[in-house]
Amino acid sequence: MSSDESWQPDYDVVVAGGGAAGVGAAIGAALTGAKVCLVEKYGFLGGAATNAQVLAYCGFFQQAPEPIQAVAGAGELVLEELRRHGLDAKPYRSPTTGNWIILLDPEVLKLSLDRICAEHGIDVLLHTRVASVSRTGRHLESVMLAGMDGRRRVIANAFVDASGDANLALLAGVECQTGDDNGHLQAVTMPLRIGGLAPGTRIDRQVIIATTEKYNETTDLKINRSDGGIYTRVPGSDDFWWLTVDLPIEDLSSSSFTRAEQQGRVMAHGLVKALRDHVTGFEDAYLAQTGPQIGIRESRHPKARYRMTFDDVVSGRTCDFPIARAAWPIELHGEAGKPIYHSVGGAGYCHVPLDAITADGLDNLWYAGRTIGADGRAYGSIRVMGTAFATGEAAGTAAALSASSAKPATAQAVNKALAERGALL
Ligand SMILES: Cc1cc2nc3c(=O)[nH]c(=O)nc-3n(C[C@H](O)[C@H](O)[C@H](O)COP(=O)(O)OP(=O)(O)OC[C@H]3O[C@@H](n4cnc5c(N)ncnc54)[C@H](O)[C@@H]3O)c2cc1C
Repeated sequence: MSSDESWQPDYDVVVAGGGAAGVGAAIGAALTGAKVCLVEKYGFLGGAATNAQVLAYCGFFQQAPEPIQAVAGAGELVLEELRRHGLDAKPYRSPTTGNWIILLDPEVLKLSLDRICAEHGIDVLLHTRVASVSRTGRHLESVMLAGMDGRRRVIANAFVDASGDANLALLAGVECQTGDDNGHLQAVTMPLRIGGLAPGTRIDRQVIIATTEKYNETTDLKINRSDGGIYTRVPGSDDFWWLTVDLPIEDLSSSSFTRAEQQGRVMAHGLVKALRDHVTGFEDAYLAQTGPQIGIRESRHPKARYRMTFDDVVSGRTCDFPIARAAWPIELHGEAGKPIYHSVGGAGYCHVPLDAITADGLDNLWYAGRTIGADGRAYGSIRVMGTAFATGEAAGTAAALSASSAKPATAQAVNKALAERGALL
C-alpha cells in the first residue's frame, strides 16, 4: 500500500465494485498481466445477483430457439467455476419470456467468485468502499478506500468503474446523467424468495395472477404487474423466486430508497400471506429472504466517449474491433409493473465499441456493466449480467494494457487481447 516515501503505484488496476462487471474486469486485467485490486462495499461479490437476489444471468445467450452463446471469456470461466461447485449453470429457457438464462444459487455464486478471484491472484477487499479520489487533469491518481480498518489511499495506473451507480466516475468529477434523458428512472424491484412449499407443488400462472388480484383488494400498496410477474424455482432449495414487487423511484435520494425498501417489505409479507391463504402447496410458505437491498435497475450514467443507441441494438449494429457482444433484448421498466421488450436485430447481437466503455475526459478510467455509455433504451439491453461480464473483461483488459504503456490502449489492441483469450466478439 502507499506510503509518503514511495510514489510507486500500489496496483496496476483498481476496480470499484464486485458485481458481474467488476469480477469480469478484475479477471480481464489479471489475465492481461496486471496487479489488480477489486473493491466491494458488501461482504461478498456478485453485485445484484447476491445483494438483490437477481438469481439469473441474462445475456450469455442470444434470443433463438436454441441457445447461441454471446458471451464467453471471463464470464465462461465463472460458469465453469459454478459447475465445479455443483451448479448446473446450463442455459435454461425462461417459460415467461422464452429467453435463455442461467439460474443461480447465491451462496454457490459467492463462494465461486471468491475462488475464481483467488485463482487469478486478485486482491479482493470486501467491506470496503471507494470513498473519494484524487485527480490531476485527465488522470486519476488514486482512490481513498474506506473499510473496517479506516481509510487508506491506493495509487494505481488505471481504474475501472464497475460500481453500477457510477460512484467512482461521480467522485472523479465526470458528468453524470440521472435516469433517461428526461431524468426518469426505471422502476426498482424487490425480488422475493419464498420457502416452505409442499413437495411437488406446481406453479400455475393463472392462480398466481388471481392471488395477486386478491392481495390487491386488501391494500393500497398494489402490485402493478397484471401478468403474474417473473418467477422460477431456485436450484438446490427449490424455493419460489418471484419478481413482482415493482416500485417507481423518483430520484436517487436516500429517502426515496428508504421508502421503496420499506414499502416493498410490506408488500412482500402481504403477498406471501395471500399465497398461504389461497394457493394449494403454499400453506406453510414463508418469506425466506428479500434483499440485502432492493434491486436497482438504473441510477446514474457517467459520460462515455460513445453512447450506444436504441438503433445500435435493434439493428444489431456491428463495428470494427468490437470489445463485446450485447445480445439481451431491450427490456424497459419505465412504468412499474409494465415491462416493454424490443428484440436485438442483425445477427442477434450488437457490438459494443471501446468508446462506450471509455470515460469522457479522463485517460485512465474505463466503465463496465451498468455504467457503460448507452441511451435510455439501449441501456435496457446492455445492463444485464452476462453482458456485464463481457464489458467488464474488456474494461479490465483496456485498463491493464494502458497501465503498462504510455498511451491508452487502442480498440484494435483490446480486441486482439480479448480474441486471443476466446472472448466472443
Ligand atoms: C429487479 C432486477 C431484476 C433484474 N433481472 C436480471 C436478470 O434476471 N438477469 C440479469 O442478468 N440481469 C438482471 N438485472 C440487471 C442486472 O442485475 C444489473 O444490471 C447488473 O447486476 C449489472 O451488473 P454490474 O456489475 O454492472 O452492477 P451491480 O450488479 O450493481 O454491481 C455493482 C457492485 O458495486 C458495488 N459498489 C457500488 N458502489 C461501490 C463503492 N463506492 N465502492 C465499492 N463497491 C461499490 C455494489 O455493492 C455492487 O456489488 C436485473 C436488475 C434488477 C434490479
